[in-house]
Amino acid sequence: MLDVQKIRKDFPILNRKVNGKPLIYFDNAATSQTPQQVIDVIVDYYSNYNANIHRGVHALSQEATDAYEQARHKIQKHFNAKHPHEIIYTSGTTDSINLVASGFSTLLKKGDEVIVSALEHHSNIVPWQMLCERSGASLKVLPMNNDGELVISELDTLLTENTKLVFVNHISNALGTINPIETIIEKAHAVGAAVLVDGAQSCPHIKPDVQALDVDFYVCSAHKICGPTGVGMLYGKEEWLKKLPPYQGGGEMIAEVSFEKTTYADLPHKFEAGTPNICGGIAFGAALDYMNAIGFDAIAAYENELLEYATEKLLQIEGLKIYGTAENKTSVISFNIGNIHPYDIGTILDKMGIAVRTGHHCAQPIMDFFKIPGTIRASFMFYNTKEEIDTFISGLKKAVMMLS
Ligand code: PMP
Repeated sequence: MLDVQKIRKDFPILNRKVNGKPLIYFDNAATSQTPQQVIDVIVDYYSNYNANIHRGVHALSQEATDAYEQARHKIQKHFNAKHPHEIIYTSGTTDSINLVASGFSTLLKKGDEVIVSALEHHSNIVPWQMLCERSGASLKVLPMNNDGELVISELDTLLTENTKLVFVNHISNALGTINPIETIIEKAHAVGAAVLVDGAQSCPHIKPDVQALDVDFYVCSAHKICGPTGVGMLYGKEEWLKKLPPYQGGGEMIAEVSFEKTTYADLPHKFEAGTPNICGGIAFGAALDYMNAIGFDAIAAYENELLEYATEKLLQIEGLKIYGTAENKTSVISFNIGNIHPYDIGTILDKMGIAVRTGHHCAQPIMDFFKIPGTIRASFMFYNTKEEIDTFISGLKKAVMMLS
């Protein structure tokens, strides 16, 4: 059982008012809030041991290097990667996907095929389209049904001996659907294709075990998991990371440089050119410590309760339609009310101090599927409460009255 009132005290931002009203933050799928424990780690870094890493002989540089590498070990442990060098620091999910897509452009050729799911964020579509343009490979789409679930049976016809890669999110940011990635990985591997799982939305709710999943690449952003923006990670199986060429050239990623020839550093540094987000990496580790201390089973159970409670209350509002009615979903609810534009409702809710997201959620193909321009999306984390949901529901009812 979570002690939500105790947890809420960890988040200073939850004390603030917006437009004179206590903040109700239901935009967690866009970015999560940061607990004091993580803020303290950031302040400590800049107050006490801010220095560049890996190169310095002086004390500050050693301390920063140790903390940054310890955080990599925490991330490795959290995701149960076999080796710490299978964890590559990136600037976030988008950067991680671009790293892999850029690497694959040297491995793919005309006639090769890649498969994307219909439920993806633009970050997990556009880099692959760019990859296909560069390499001549073709892109196929695994379709979804009206509940916002992937039609997994279609995979059997889409996967061929030419399929080299399948990319899919673990959880959809627009609808909250939890995808059966275990089945997708198994089927893709049966034809020799690699799988990249976008974990941007799963990592706040689930603790993935990359070895048990046997996934080839798994990516996420720290800011969705109570960490800072501008840092994330790519997990890649050692054999794949060795096969992929470096992403960017620069300092840190080399073994030897001369004007005739440069050799590259070993993993993970081969993919980490330039001065990284040192403080961000350390804070990413602290955020995982924070979430693990609460426990992912307790987090998931409580968020499910919030999801069920909010879904039931929302469906009592006349004309309200929820998009994404999969049985297996997380605490994200996308909806519209009658013909009211989502933006109008979002603006009125903001006046009441309630933060939701409106629009296409960087998932235009999903909106096209439902033939809508966008939705209102409320997404909950473990620090939200049923009381907040009650205030949100009465705010929504007021907004509907004002707009009808
Ligand atoms: N994929 C999914 C499913 C997401 O929800 C997001 C963030 N909205 C991203 C990718 C991109 O993450 P970032 O902007 O942190 O790179």
